[in-house]
Amino acid sequence: MKPVYRFNPAFQTPQGSPIRELFKYTQQQGMISFAGVYSSPALFDAEALAHSGAAVLQESPTACLQYGATEGVPALTEALRALTRERTGGKVTAENVLVTTGSQQAFELLLRVLVGPGDCVAIERPAYPAAIQALRLANADMLEVPSDDDGMDTEALEKMLLAGARPKLLYVVPTFANPTGATLPLERRRHLLELAVRYQMLVIEDDPYGELRFAGTPQPLLLEVAADVPGGDDWLVYLSSLSKIVAPGLRIGWMSGPAEILRRAVIAKQTGDLCTAPWMQLAAARYLRDGCLAKHLPTIIATYKERCEAMLEALQQYFADTLEVTVPQGGMFVWARWRDGTEANALLQQAVLENVMYVPGSAFYAGAADPARLRLSFATAAPDEIRIGVTRLHAAHGKLKR
Ligand code: PMP
Repeated sequence: MKPVYRFNPAFQTPQGSPIRELFKYTQQQGMISFAGVYSSPALFDAEALAHSGAAVLQESPTACLQYGATEGVPALTEALRALTRERTGGKVTAENVLVTTGSQQAFELLLRVLVGPGDCVAIERPAYPAAIQALRLANADMLEVPSDDDGMDTEALEKMLLAGARPKLLYVVPTFANPTGATLPLERRRHLLELAVRYQMLVIEDDPYGELRFAGTPQPLLLEVAADVPGGDDWLVYLSSLSKIVAPGLRIGWMSGPAEILRRAVIAKQTGDLCTAPWMQLAAARYLRDGCLAKHLPTIIATYKERCEAMLEALQQYFADTLEVTVPQGGMFVWARWRDGTEANALLQQAVLENVMYVPGSAFYAGAADPARLRLSFATAAPDEIRIGVTRLHAAHGKLKR
């Protein structure tokens, strides 16, 4: 007899991550992928990381190989404080820092600490799929706030709040958002924090891409703006990660914010994974302390700039009339929309046959999706491959039309 397991209702009919489900196609021989958030392996600073990893293991084998404090190893929390000071022009010292196993874990810990079934959480529309998935599994009630080329529309958010919506949490990627690539201008940043204070709504600033700017004017972090809005820093938790600027395989992220919240997140992490791998933490701390990030980051940024330009040029050449695209100033993504009624999900089937892939926009909506949307990542493929990939996409589009 087939066993009937009594699952948690949230897992009764689970939906896997739509992006992780696409992963099988990336293994296809000759595939050019515009789907992933993976840096190309050529951009990994493997030599410097090998040196950092070996040096810390030799110097402090016990600290590397033993369990560590849940909060994180002091050498890394110190390095992350220094990084925060640097990112905020010396304005924010980030007294409370919790090292997490990727920033994905930081988000998950915050949901455990703050969100119960039916609680309202505001997100951008469209939003990062793994955040939507985590909120679904937490049985949260998602309030989708519209966004445009300048990120979350805070006027629309204010209208929702005035109409009675009471999200206890708001999750936002204010700089080079996933999937839109959009960046919130300063006025919206300030407005968002004023609303957070007025409506006692905790803002989670997720910032994995902020340092990947290759054009335009830098915007201050919400973390920095919060210091200027009275009461602002009581209502902001900052998340960031080494995944996009060093390597996702390190699984190093962190959060900083109010002590009361971080104390509870530490307790949640104690039952999650006890601590983030100490060896990786110490290696990362050494890598940062030795100035390797500062040395290597310009290479990543210059590479993404070149790739982004190659993608925009090729899209313009082949799809000038049919595809509307954003022009990102950093990050990894071009967010696009078919003007001719093409459905991104249907086109993907054809595209995979042509050996090119992307993520259909439907992955990024908690509610009704716009079927004409798609996200194209320029992070993984080299400029020549990007050009070939776009010609393949053109062929797939032509075949679908016929
Ligand atoms: N937030 C956003 C917006 C992301 O795009 C990602 C990675 N795709 C993450 C968080 C998770 O990153 P990490 O590897 O640090 O868990």
